[in-house]
Amino acid sequence: MSEIVKIVLKSGKDQSMKRYHPWIFSGAIKKKYGEPADGDIVHVYSNQDEFLGAGHFQDASIAVRILSFTDKEIGESFYYERLKDAASARAELGLLNSSDTNVFRLVNAEGDGLPGMIIDYYNGAAIMQFHSIGMHRNRELLVKGLKKVLGDKLTTIYDKSGSTLPARYGSEHSNSYLMGQAGLMEVLEHGNKFSIDWERGQKTGFFIDQRESRKLLAEYSDGKKVLNMFGYTGGFSVYARRGGAELVHTVDSSFNAVELADQNMKLNFADDGRHKGISADAFKYLDSPEEEYDVVILDPPAFAKHHNKLHNALQGYKKLNMKALEKIRPEGILFTFSCSQAVSRENFRKSVFAASANTGRRVRILHQLSQPADHPVSIYHPEGEYLKGLVLLVD
Ligand code: SAH
Repeated sequence: MSEIVKIVLKSGKDQSMKRYHPWIFSGAIKKKYGEPADGDIVHVYSNQDEFLGAGHFQDASIAVRILSFTDKEIGESFYYERLKDAASARAELGLLNSSDTNVFRLVNAEGDGLPGMIIDYYNGAAIMQFHSIGMHRNRELLVKGLKKVLGDKLTTIYDKSGSTLPARYGSEHSNSYLMGQAGLMEVLEHGNKFSIDWERGQKTGFFIDQRESRKLLAEYSDGKKVLNMFGYTGGFSVYARRGGAELVHTVDSSFNAVELADQNMKLNFADDGRHKGISADAFKYLDSPEEEYDVVILDPPAFAKHHNKLHNALQGYKKLNMKALEKIRPEGILFTFSCSQAVSRENFRKSVFAASANTGRRVRILHQLSQPADHPVSIYHPEGEYLKGLVLLVD
């Protein structure tokens, strides 16, 4: 094995690392003592020659993703320990052996000390998505560790990184099974059934991060007319119906998504006409909705993928929320979300504030929502907090 390349930071640029922030931006680097290849382990030092950490190098804006702030070997046992920690946190949350929920996030990147990757768990199937080439190069070690940590529980491992690796690597990557084989999976979330297709579905097949918000929605649904906007697999729709909704409409611009939502409703409930899937654009649909709704869920895709799109994103949230706030019935409940990492909680709330003010309606915040505990955020890496939600009572 070749020597580990040493990287020295510019004076003052060591501060964030001393506070355990796991990213080194390329502009912070003063000198590289060698030419690391993408994915190589490098050692990072301050300008005073103090060892700061070891991580994966990548020729990109985030040049190093730190794996350890102490000088230890990043190998098989390192990955095993981190995976074991991640699994025991989920066991602590009651997710690993739960009888009514067998879908959760097993590894949440920086939040679990494994930057550059996530693993979603679907009743024995682990779907891995790699964001960094360094983690991807260590895939075999991670698979080995995962098998050891999960033992007999694990039936399938699928690497779905074609769309998440940096473009120059992603285009060469073909999504593949590293254990087990193709197949559809039925999972349970708080006792509700969902059919998962990780190969064709968005992300890893399901939006696991809305589990607790969906559960809350059920409490507001009894006897209500519910609109699940941006419904995808119908996650919120199933919970609304479980909570006693009189009628549920799932709207999504994707025809496939609407079909999935219909299918998941049928998995759980008799086909009695209380659910309808509608394939339509959100903004257009809200201009002339089919019904007057008591409860509306707005869970759009990330409007801002980058900070430079922030202004447009905030305008988008404002416009969308305004349309919903204008139409919702008196004493209505609005569940509204943003999953854009670039949009702060404060900025999101300001957009919803501006939308409310424009409608002139009385609006009260009942709950402030966030990602669930199986999507932990490292306190040193606030960027890991991406999901924000508000539950509003609209008079
Ligand atoms: N609420 C879902 C996740 C939503 S993901 C859940 O709990 O699982 C965002 C969804 O918005 C996707 O399914 C996508 O097809 C849909 N979408 C994107 N743009 C849209 C638009 N302009 N109008 C309606 N749906 C849209």
